[in-house]
Amino acid sequence: MRIDLAFCIELEKTVDIYKACQEFSAQTKYSKFHFLCSDPVCRETGTRVSGVNHQYLPEDDDVLKSPHYRMWDIHSAECEWVCINEVANDALHENDSESAGSILNKKNRKLITKFILPDDAESNSDFISNELTSIRKEKNPENKVKKIKDYLRVTGSTATCLESLVSCFEELKAIDRLDENLTISGYGETTFKTFFKQLKFAHTSQLSVIHGGARIYKRYSNGVGFSLNFLDKYNKKHVSMYVSSDMLKNSKNGGRILRIVDEVQNTTDSNPYLKVYWIGGMHLEEGDSHYKVNINTLAHVVMKIVYPKTTQSNS
Ligand SMILES: [Zn+2]
Repeated sequence: MRIDLAFCIELEKTVDIYKACQEFSAQTKYSKFHFLCSDPVCRETGTRVSGVNHQYLPEDDDVLKSPHYRMWDIHSAECEWVCINEVANDALHENDSESAGSILNKKNRKLITKFILPDDAESNSDFISNELTSIRKEKNPENKVKKIKDYLRVTGSTATCLESLVSCFEELKAIDRLDENLTISGYGETTFKTFFKQLKFAHTSQLSVIHGGARIYKRYSNGVGFSLNFLDKYNKKHVSMYVSSDMLKNSKNGGRILRIVDEVQNTTDSNPYLKVYWIGGMHLEEGDSHYKVNINTLAHVVMKIVYPKTTQSNS
């Protein structure tokens, strides 16, 4: 059963899984969170939900490690997620069961069809919460189904968080369905394949998510700020990115990014590196010898760990 939001006992609020990941890494001492269903009746009876992988750092192209909520206890028959999944399953049976949306739903993931460029002020969780409140308040069964259909088509398939969009990109890549359509709010229609560009194939004039492998070049300000060098060149020049300590301290995602950088730096045996996704145009500043990626908010950046595959079997 797909669950988009859950009540986190430790945070005392209802959050989506990416918010849970951010808050987990913002703790001074990392301890695992516990979740209840966001539905008021389920929450009252202590219905638990698993926050799968919220405590782990994201690894590139490993869809098994992508964070998501999963059903643990049996939910109330009137639970909002039971109702939403019933409506979703009916709709999927009517349509093609081989559609990307259907395949992702079976894996408790959702197909994102619309992306709103994130800023640090807005959160996916609030966005979804408002819509759920409206569904909960609706007593007329027909209107409720109509509102749920709207939720599945609009709010439940919209992302305001880049990591959520990147996870969907990886899921679609794994099933060879990157030609799925994607609407970028305020910019228009594209596909995942067109919107995500490898650094070396990027265009400076187009809005896109650019991605590339990178290694840590230097740590600054007592290890808080850092700079990266990308593995790929752009226009035959090296590319670097600088993340200041202020940006890390002021961003909701700063703790998680810092943990990822620490992990890459402290893991010496397998020599991991970073995969960085960021929202461009390119924000590329050309210097004599190299390009600098200028980012103004970490809400526009996602980092994942790449553990290079060993050529020899370890077993
Ligand atoms: Zn429930």
